[in-house]
Amino acid sequence: MMKKIFAVVLCLLLALPLASQAAVFNTDHATAFMSSRFNCGCTIDGSGAMISRYGLVTAAHNLYCYQHGEKLKSCDFYFGAKSANSCWYKYDGKFTYWTYEDFENGYDSTNDIGVVIFDAPVGDETGWFGYWVGSDRDLNEEYTHVLAYDQYRHMQDLFEIQYVYSSTELYWQGWLGGTAGGPVYLWGEGMEYPMVVAVYTAADNDGNGYGRRLTADVIQDMRDHGAFR
Ligand SMILES: [Zn+2]
Repeated sequence: MMKKIFAVVLCLLLALPLASQAAVFNTDHATAFMSSRFNCGCTIDGSGAMISRYGLVTAAHNLYCYQHGEKLKSCDFYFGAKSANSCWYKYDGKFTYWTYEDFENGYDSTNDIGVVIFDAPVGDETGWFGYWVGSDRDLNEEYTHVLAYDQYRHMQDLFEIQYVYSSTELYWQGWLGGTAGGPVYLWGEGMEYPMVVAVYTAADNDGNGYGRRLTADVIQDMRDHGAFR
């Protein structure tokens, strides 16, 4: 019981900066289908989630080619995508980004998380999730949603109990047929907004899904780069 009360109070505190958002929050609108092209010529489809007015979190391998370690050449963001031709809001303007893994030695899920900071206040159009840097005890055995667009830009939604895998990763037993980088979030009783706790990164051959946790350093780096203006 204590744990639940603590979680609700903490989330209410973290939700305060969201007060300027539109009254109706739509998780799909705050989640982007990403079309990424890399300098090596590879392309990849991904997902990403707004967690502030300017900042989006996604998998690192949507920003660096996981096969060649090459940087992004360009990326378009389709928020609230419905099909190849329809979305709530498209962003193809300027942005900066960084990751915590650049895949110089092949794919590794451990730090497969990256951040995009848009030059424009994209969140004014899309809304944004809250975020929560939870401890192992807070996050273990919580039910979370995992959102991601599939290759046809249809939203996939998995609701599953998750477990802490390591200091940077979560896992759950369930296959999500979508692209990587979408939000792993809690939206419990008493929470006004859903709270992103990780980004979806990968699935293994046994049907387990993995997420890279939002850690304090990621949030601090975003703050230092003006994501929470
Ligand atoms: Zn490549």
